[in-house]
Amino acid sequence: MISMSEIQKFFRGAIRVNEPMANHTWMKVGGPADWYAEPRDREDLVALIEYLQKQGAPFVVIGRGSNILVSDAGVRGAVINVEQALQTLTKKNGKVFAEAGVRLTHFVDFCIQHELAGVEMLAGIPGTVGGAVVMNAGAYGGTISDYIAEVEVIRNGTVALVSKEQAEFSYRHSGFTNDVVLSALFLLPKGKKEELAQRRRECVLKRNQTQPLEFPNLGSMFKNPPNAYAAQLIEQAGLKGKRIGGAQVSEKHANFIVNLGNATATDVMHLVDLVQRTVYQHFGVLLELEVKLVGFSPQQG
Ligand SMILES: Cc1cc2nc3c(=O)[nH]c(=O)nc-3n(C[C@H](O)[C@H](O)[C@H](O)COP(=O)(O)OP(=O)(O)OC[C@H]3O[C@@H](n4cnc5c(N)ncnc54)[C@H](O)[C@@H]3O)c2cc1C
Repeated sequence: MISMSEIQKFFRGAIRVNEPMANHTWMKVGGPADWYAEPRDREDLVALIEYLQKQGAPFVVIGRGSNILVSDAGVRGAVINVEQALQTLTKKNGKVFAEAGVRLTHFVDFCIQHELAGVEMLAGIPGTVGGAVVMNAGAYGGTISDYIAEVEVIRNGTVALVSKEQAEFSYRHSGFTNDVVLSALFLLPKGKKEELAQRRRECVLKRNQTQPLEFPNLGSMFKNPPNAYAAQLIEQAGLKGKRIGGAQVSEKHANFIVNLGNATATDVMHLVDLVQRTVYQHFGVLLELEVKLVGFSPQQG
């Protein structure tokens, strides 16, 4: 059992009960988390996790909530946002050390400033370094794991370093699903600042032209199946613009589901289900969700 008076004995960050998760996810949907915590620094975060593990209390760690769909029923247990706690970004011995709460845009800018190449294509992805490592985020032919040397995690209650080879990275997947990612160390080749900045501009421009950024969304809802594009299959199945409640398959990019203003997580899940069934009927392909479901029962997922 989590006890506020026990937590207040050691915790220095902000903690709230029944916090609406719609306020903390990019899709702007999701019911209340029993407990919502923003640790102040790394020590605060580690102490909170130790406490929760000792109590056997369930918890979920999030960054900017740009790849999670939270159920309307909310989250039983604690949600821990690490943005404030993990903000260090430095260069040491030719490598870039980034803590999990650093925003990807900030990380990309830092690398470009230091004439380090490779991650410009991540510009415009609205997440944190931690979220990007867990999701193995990528775009335009590259992924964040291409440049990772090692990742620092809390695994089974202990801080551990995991090498890239041990990290089980694959397309939008890593082996960190049950860990807390604290930081990552990146090894990047040298580049020319102007060229890198130009590539970053091109990537951001492409995003602005092709993605429905005017509405809340979670980026690509589905993974691309082998040798195909989810967006193309959804469009060819006639689903572009399809609407359920306040959720819509974007008119601009068929692999995005947008919140037209009053969507619920249930609307989004009904649309996900419709897309999966229709694409399967047309092409025999079962689209797999890329976004992570939080607060749903395994049957609902
Ligand atoms: C407009 C838009 C465009 C996008 N474009 C892309 C794209 O081009 N490529 C791409 O790959 N993704 C894209 N995304 C998806 C998303 O932004 C990325 O996956 C991002 O890296 C997620 O980071 P986050 O901090 O928001 O993670 P969250 O959404 O907060 O979390 C995602 C998952 O990681 C876990 N997690 C987060 N932080 C930690 C941590 N420190 N320790 C342990 N677990 C953690 C969460 O529990 C959850 O399972 C896009 C999203 C949007 C809204």
